[in-house]
Amino acid sequence: MKAQSMPQEILLMDEAANLQNYEKTALEMDWSTVEQQFTWHETGRVNMVYEAIDRHVAEGRGAQPALLYTDGVREEAYTFADIQEQSCRFANGLRSLGVTKGDRVFIFMPRSPELYIALLGIVRIGAIAGPLFEAFMEEAVKDRLLDSGAKAVITAPQLLSRIPVKDLPDLQYVILTGADETTAEKQVLYTDLMNTSSDYTIEWLGREDGMLLHYTSGSTGKPKGVLQVHDAMVHQYLSGKWTYDLREGDIYWCTADPGWVTGTSAGMWSPWLNGITVVLRGGRFSAEAWYETLEKYGVTVWFSAPTAFRMIMASGSELPKRYDLSKLRHILSAGEPLNPEVIRWGLETLDRRIHDNWWMTETGSSICANFRCNPIRPGSMGKPLPGIKLAIIDNQGNELPPKHMGNLAIQPKWPAMVRTIWNNPEKYEQYFLKGWFISGDSAYMDEDGYFWFEGRVDDVINTAGERVGPFEVESKLMEHPAVAEAGVIGVPDPVRGEIIKAFITLREGFAESDELKEEIRTFVKTRLAAHAAPRLIEIRQSIPKTRSGKIMRRVLKAWELGLPTGDLSTMEE
Ligand code: ATP
Ligand code: MG
Repeated sequence: MKAQSMPQEILLMDEAANLQNYEKTALEMDWSTVEQQFTWHETGRVNMVYEAIDRHVAEGRGAQPALLYTDGVREEAYTFADIQEQSCRFANGLRSLGVTKGDRVFIFMPRSPELYIALLGIVRIGAIAGPLFEAFMEEAVKDRLLDSGAKAVITAPQLLSRIPVKDLPDLQYVILTGADETTAEKQVLYTDLMNTSSDYTIEWLGREDGMLLHYTSGSTGKPKGVLQVHDAMVHQYLSGKWTYDLREGDIYWCTADPGWVTGTSAGMWSPWLNGITVVLRGGRFSAEAWYETLEKYGVTVWFSAPTAFRMIMASGSELPKRYDLSKLRHILSAGEPLNPEVIRWGLETLDRRIHDNWWMTETGSSICANFRCNPIRPGSMGKPLPGIKLAIIDNQGNELPPKHMGNLAIQPKWPAMVRTIWNNPEKYEQYFLKGWFISGDSAYMDEDGYFWFEGRVDDVINTAGERVGPFEVESKLMEHPAVAEAGVIGVPDPVRGEIIKAFITLREGFAESDELKEEIRTFVKTRLAAHAAPRLIEIRQSIPKTRSGKIMRRVLKAWELGLPTGDLSTMEE
């Protein structure tokens, strides 16, 4: 079924009459209407954790499941009341150590219920939570703990050796989960903190108080510490309603790790603010385990990333037939451009549309999306979330008309927006141009208001006077039956300015040969454009990616040109 033409729009036929009217809402929506959802609208007392957890208990929904956990060995279920109690315990434990409002407390541990409980405990007392992906090595951990001036870090014994306590003057406590004894100075046991007190506790805050410090993925350079505040809840609630289409009774699984913004914003806050049950899967990726999880919990809404979908695709289309996936209603993807080939696979194999949505750590929550109520356009990132003003602007800060490629920009300020770059206010200033927030991505808007991603501004290729976005070439390459993944860059050329080079990995059953490379080149030439066909193709065992699955084109480029590779702390092994 490969390499056939793809419909330009895919409409959803089921329950069309019940779907929201996007155009009308987008016109009428303003954030102050959404704010009325929150108890602080009446009381003036703000805390994300109150709205995400405690409120459900206070309003009689305490017995509803909040978190369903599995990793193949452990299997646990927590109600909203359980999560409230446990996070209060952790909060009391932190208070007993002298942790207070504004302190940075980091979490460096495997995905587990304890991670979620710790994060909620931190935010509950007004401290700022800094989640770190468990695969980080010592350098990466040190950089982030130093930069943020973290006062405490919660970790697991197997990760302890990667925390260079002696080099971290601000670090006062290392809180150990899953251990019965401490082995060094500054160590505290998680279980002891959990036994300090089970009393209810919450710190009342203002909307602009700091909540989360997320370091960006490092695709384009050194990761930046992005501060999100409690007001982000207004946005995350709405993303849950619109982008993720969350409805009462849903079982929702977002596969992102809380070390990345998707894992907290889309993985915890959006569903919990909407009172939705969250599924959490620990352990490593395997296509079988993932299908099993979808079936076991009867997942209705599933959120993952292009890299994961590509891995699942590579496991074949027979595998999903062994599982009952009939409960699945809505599938989402974010983090990277979603190749139309993946959407085709979703339609053919799962009989579901996959809905792309675009955002960044700095936006804090979804900005544009292929909403369930709209026809999706494969390859497009969809339309702006109601409440968001999204535009394409030129380098002088002028708004461009449809069909013009330019800087994807957002009008400040929106609730989940970054409030500062930690320790680097100059960097923060650089995001703004004539009152616009500049994303660093290049895109255009079509005449119907759908946005189309071209590439990172720095990755866009200029060849013989033509602009070529790497994403379009990569997506076309992936339509060829031999190509599993592709990363495309521009290489300096005296005649053409730049020429296009593609790095690809092959699917099983294909072997490298000059004929195959030529065939792939011709494939892109005849199906996309002659000027967009890669002149150079290199076949590799893998493509360098961040641990969150983003292709690191800057690394491909540095390798190609023999230049220093820069910060590699987030690169996958
Ligand atoms: P760094 O800022 O450290 O270089 P990063 O930009 O990859 O890393 P994130 O904030 O995790 O860090 O990622 C945001 C970026 O991911 C966006 O700027 C965009 O390039 C890409 N992205 C996210 N979602 C999509 C999407 N749906 N389509 C295309 N690109 C996407
Ligand atoms: Mg970025």
